[in-house]
Amino acid sequence: ARMLAYTPAQIRESRLKPANIEIKHPVRAAYVILVRNSELHELRATIRQLEDQFNARHRYPYVFLNNKPFTEEFKRAMEWVTSGDCHFGLVPYEHWSMPPWVDRVRAKWAMAMLGSKVPYGDSESYRKMCRYESGFFFRHPLLDDYDYYWRVEPGVEFSCEITHDPFKYMADNKKTYGFTISLREIPLTVKTLWKTTNAFRASYPEYIAPNNMLSWITASNGDYNLCHFWSNFEIASLDFFRSPQYTAYFDFLDRAGGFFLERWGDAPVHTLAAAMFLNKTQVHFFDNIGYYHRPFQNCPTDPQFNMQHCFCNPNRSMIHNEDSCTNAWLQL
Ligand code: GDP
Ligand code: MN
Repeated sequence: ARMLAYTPAQIRESRLKPANIEIKHPVRAAYVILVRNSELHELRATIRQLEDQFNARHRYPYVFLNNKPFTEEFKRAMEWVTSGDCHFGLVPYEHWSMPPWVDRVRAKWAMAMLGSKVPYGDSESYRKMCRYESGFFFRHPLLDDYDYYWRVEPGVEFSCEITHDPFKYMADNKKTYGFTISLREIPLTVKTLWKTTNAFRASYPEYIAPNNMLSWITASNGDYNLCHFWSNFEIASLDFFRSPQYTAYFDFLDRAGGFFLERWGDAPVHTLAAAMFLNKTQVHFFDNIGYYHRPFQNCPTDPQFNMQHCFCNPNRSMIHNEDSCTNAWLQL
């Protein structure tokens, strides 16, 4: 078999990673990518787009996280396709498991009952992933050096040139949480999430922001209207997740066991937290970031911007879909 060229010297001489350029970033920020070794090629395609549309001009670093050790092949492939520094982290067992207080028998039963009624209904590993993305990624020591992160997943696409630095935008405008797509959650996955969240609110009224976004996620009958930011894309402040409010909320939810007894996703969890703890002005809709994650996309609808910078069809943008909650959010 032919050997893959991959020495550090060769990588430094590559198009993307010239060693002689030093970049001073305006913000302490990184891409954070939870990924399996088997997703190497999907991720290469995604990062190649991200580099071409934005990062080759900025060289922000990458943090790759995995519950299993990354292979040498994976690490080398990421060094080749990225312009920024790469850091590879292992997720500890306690952060990727069913906590000891969850009743094993009930959990197995609940997973079997949800079965094929909802995507990943019977998957234990998916639930571990959702719990990790809800409560632990921001505690990984590799993120200690950063104030903001951008979540990226293998297979997603960036369909427009990113003409302004989103990290800098967040910092300059005192934004805490940025999104591109919002939609409605599958009711069966979050049966008692709202009830549990209301119990949390009753216990910690001092944590609720004065200009919060709770009205945006509350139906006319007082229930959760299932609106959430789609967290596979997220540009956010790490201090938001590290805050006493957020960690108390996560602990409260984790104790209730719904990550396993139901199938609470990290998207509604992040969203309910943002709705309680943030004022609307701290949240930003990145309308000009072209983004696709199967089966939805955000495609900039400004005709001039779209023609100049994008390859997506604005008529297909999620903002026109009746399941999107973004127009309601804009009207808040
Ligand atoms: P979906 O978007 O809800 O369909 O879920 P994904 O399959 O895209 O998973 C969400 C993110 O978690 C992606 O970045 C995946 O690569 C990652 N992920 C999911 N399951 C695992 C796992 O078992 N191990 C690792 N390391 N990453 C995972
Ligand atoms: Mn995904």
